[in-house]
Amino acid sequence: MRCHNCGVPEGQEHRAGCPVEVCPGCGAQAVGHRCRRAAGLLRVPFLHFPSVCARCGAIDPPWFGVPDVVWTYYVAPFEREEIVCEPCFKTIVRLIDRYRPRPDWLPTKAEIATYRAVWSRFHRSSLRGPQRRRLAAELDALEAAYSPRRSADKTHKSTARRRTSERV
Ligand SMILES: [Zn+2]
Ligand SMILES: [Zn+2]
Ligand SMILES: [Zn+2]
Repeated sequence: MRCHNCGVPEGQEHRAGCPVEVCPGCGAQAVGHRCRRAAGLLRVPFLHFPSVCARCGAIDPPWFGVPDVVWTYYVAPFEREEIVCEPCFKTIVRLIDRYRPRPDWLPTKAEIATYRAVWSRFHRSSLRGPQRRRLAAELDALEAAYSPRRSADKTHKSTARRRTSERV
């Protein structure tokens, strides 16, 4: 196991400027970061701590993104900070949808798929600069559009659209 960015093996300090290195004082990204809490502390060497699905225990499952409103609808308040793998999330959706009708304000499956596609393009680590900022803005716009706090007339329109795409 090596740092995916600078290539050092576990236990060794990152190469200078590696964006994966964290501040020993606060855990923030160390590059270009000055921190009083780090005074006198040693640099943090690279060690891999796997992420684990809180439901099935899968180790380092691939990341995926869904709009916030979808995540908070399906994942209970005290589980929201947990890592959930994609197969488990799909299971959770299926189980809850079986017993509770999907509310009108929830983004459709097509809208969620659109969001996910933009999300995966955004999280490809090779993207930098304006290309990355454009995708970030696109994601923010989708989050805003899918938020249930939209005005009443807009809600009405998107509900109609939602029903149409659900039938497809
Ligand atoms: Zn590194
Ligand atoms: Zn710090
Ligand atoms: Zn899982």
